[in-house]
Amino acid sequence: MTAQVLAGAPAAAALLSRAAARARTLPRPPGLAIVRLGDDPASVSYVRGKDRKAREVGLQSTVYALPEETSQAELLALIAELNAAYDVDGILVQLPLPPHIDEAAVLRAVDPSKDVDGFHPVNVGELWSGRPGLLPCTPAGVMVLLEHYGIPVAGRRAVVVGRSAIVGRPMAALLLAADATVTLAHRRTPDLGAVTREAEVLVVAAGRPHLVTPEMVRPGAAVVDVGINRVLDAAGVSRLTGDVHPDVAGVAGALTPVPGGVGPMTIAALLANTVTAAERRLGLSGPR
Ligand code: NAD
Repeated sequence: MTAQVLAGAPAAAALLSRAAARARTLPRPPGLAIVRLGDDPASVSYVRGKDRKAREVGLQSTVYALPEETSQAELLALIAELNAAYDVDGILVQLPLPPHIDEAAVLRAVDPSKDVDGFHPVNVGELWSGRPGLLPCTPAGVMVLLEHYGIPVAGRRAVVVGRSAIVGRPMAALLLAADATVTLAHRRTPDLGAVTREAEVLVVAAGRPHLVTPEMVRPGAAVVDVGINRVLDAAGVSRLTGDVHPDVAGVAGALTPVPGGVGPMTIAALLANTVTAAERRLGLSGPR
């Protein structure tokens, strides 16, 4: 048996085209402000990708590229300005920020109604209280991916490996909201394999290359590999690999590839969030 490949591209394209259609019905294009500090090559490239996709979908995207030495006060002043701007619906602060900036304070400064990353404590609280506001993009993208491929979640056993604030925890909250019975495992979980083998839906976000091996997977399970790890292959060439061993394809019923699985969903979910934020701010709530 070889697992069905849950490719991200078609699911992301479908989500983006729904977001674009919703954006077209608004009286003005949804506005996205992307803020980044410094010249970290990964951040520069992520921001470029988000900005380009945002424009493709019909959003009004503006990148604020600030120097590395920007002070916390200057950054907070920019965020206050963006919070007050009528035509800015979404504010995204690209992480990581330089060490002299208090990241949590900056994320808390973003108006929750414009927090398209879903990181503000108000949105985290709304998510866990079952009244979701703006959702964190990677877990929201995983839910859309599962739905796109018709993978049922309600009533099933779901296990999430990893409890970070940006992936594992909100992932568990969304699976719970979708009526799965959820276990959240992490680095202190004894006998991880015994836990993951229970999963009919297994989401792995640990940042550990090939942490999950075939004997840790229940036959037929749907496995979502969120991990993106840069490793050197046998020939010394740098490659991206996931947290799930490729041999899991021989046991699982469905598996996301890395790259090309969850990755494209994250950015699509961000842009869909921006359209949602715009609809809410304009007092309109179109179909999702
Ligand atoms: P993180 O380092 O903040 O958290 C990792 C979590 O995994 C921790 O909660 C830790 O307890 C758990 N963990 C670590 N080792 C473990 C082990 N041996 N057994 C069980 N649990 C273990 O990482 P993160 O930000 O949540 O990211 C996780 C992975 O997902 C990374 O590879 C990251 O690059 C990737 N990621 C991908 C996307 C995407 O769009 N595809 C988005 C965000 C993160």
